[in-house]
Amino acid sequence: MDSCIFCKIIKGEIPSYKIYEDDDIFVMLDINPLSKGHTLVFPKQHFENIYDIPEELFAKIMLKSKRLAEKLKEKLNCEGIILQQNSGQKAGQSVFHLHVHLKPVFKDTEIAYEKPLRKKLTETEFEDLQNQLLLKEI
Ligand code: 5GP
Ligand code: ZN
Repeated sequence: MDSCIFCKIIKGEIPSYKIYEDDDIFVMLDINPLSKGHTLVFPKQHFENIYDIPEELFAKIMLKSKRLAEKLKEKLNCEGIILQQNSGQKAGQSVFHLHVHLKPVFKDTEIAYEKPLRKKLTETEFEDLQNQLLLKEI
């Protein structure tokens, strides 16, 4: 996609700190990292979000993300890793070429936890939601 910044990076029209690529996937350092080693994993083909990427390609991105997490832990000795994918502007997506974040967390990494924002639901509210969302397959 011509106007997409990540497509331009893949084509080499915009520089990046690439750490891996294969036929399908590109991995680079985030330009504005939360922490040392904040990395983005994304497909070379342009898909906007989690809804439109083919399942097999997303599965490959997740597999590579898992392996990358192991490498980051080994090389950076981080305390933990946050794996995140934002789909939709309201969910925090700012680049509309699907990507997965891997954010290493160290002792001094500050994280704006959503935990204080979590809601308390009544039993009825849980049951209504459960009925609404009940799935026969996934
Ligand atoms: P989102 O907010 O869409 O989940 O994540 C987009 C990420 O892309 C942000 O963390 C942002 O720092 C990063 N980003 C935006 N533009 C560039 C760029 O030109 N190069 C690199 N390496 N990262 C970028
Ligand atoms: Zn793109």
